[in-house]
Amino acid sequence: MTPVTVWPELLFAFVVGACVGSFLNVCITRWPHDLSVVRPRSRCPRCERPITALDNIPILSWVLLRGKCRGCALPISTLYPAIELITGLGWLGTVLAFGPTFTAVRVAVLGTVLLGIAVTDARHYLIPDGFTVFGLLWVFLTAVVGTMLNQPSPFADPYDAMIGACAGAGAIAIAGWLGEVALKKEAMGFGDVTLMAVVGAAVGPARAMLTIFFGALIATIVFLGVVYPYGWLKARRNKVEFDPPQIPFGVFLAPAAVIALLWGDSMVSAYTNSIGL
Ligand SMILES: [Zn+2]
Repeated sequence: MTPVTVWPELLFAFVVGACVGSFLNVCITRWPHDLSVVRPRSRCPRCERPITALDNIPILSWVLLRGKCRGCALPISTLYPAIELITGLGWLGTVLAFGPTFTAVRVAVLGTVLLGIAVTDARHYLIPDGFTVFGLLWVFLTAVVGTMLNQPSPFADPYDAMIGACAGAGAIAIAGWLGEVALKKEAMGFGDVTLMAVVGAAVGPARAMLTIFFGALIATIVFLGVVYPYGWLKARRNKVEFDPPQIPFGVFLAPAAVIALLWGDSMVSAYTNSIGL
């Protein structure tokens, strides 16, 4: 099945995605501090000038303002337009892959939630409940609607979603517990458990295990290959003892979940074939 997609649909998907990305920015900056994402309106943190609708157009406003507040010229982080651009391209990509379908919306929204989780975990070692509670409800509700629509999709059906949520959360909790015993310190936050409940509901139990495997693999490569050696060298240069930084596991589980959702089924079947199941 090749979805027929025309450019106005792709442009529409990009614009909607960029606007969703703009709201994602609000969640990313406010939820870690337990602030409401609805009120108050966004203001410049220095001069408290309210950000007008004109200065709040995703990506464009940042470019036109050259990344500075209109009132006081305080630099506006490149994170904001970057998130809007990534989300916009992500939504465009899902419509390209799945056509203008309900499935495309399911993939795009889950991808947006996972992006938010990866960014807040990287910045604050925190996975806000706002993302995971919304994610879990979204995945379950759309699994039921998706079954009724009978559209082809990479998601688990409602029954597998329930088993998957428990399997994903359970497996990561066990891994965290054993890691804690082995390392004699906290190895995993509860946020990772809530994240894996969402991921397990989306992909079902088999691909949830695949997600944890990929997440651990990517995290190991990045931390042993880059972060630890760099930190060790830096500590040596500054003549202080090297204190290995905590691993924000959600940063790696989020992209691993996307891989598992989109390509996990063919990986699992290739594996079971190879061991003769
Ligand atoms: Zn300002």
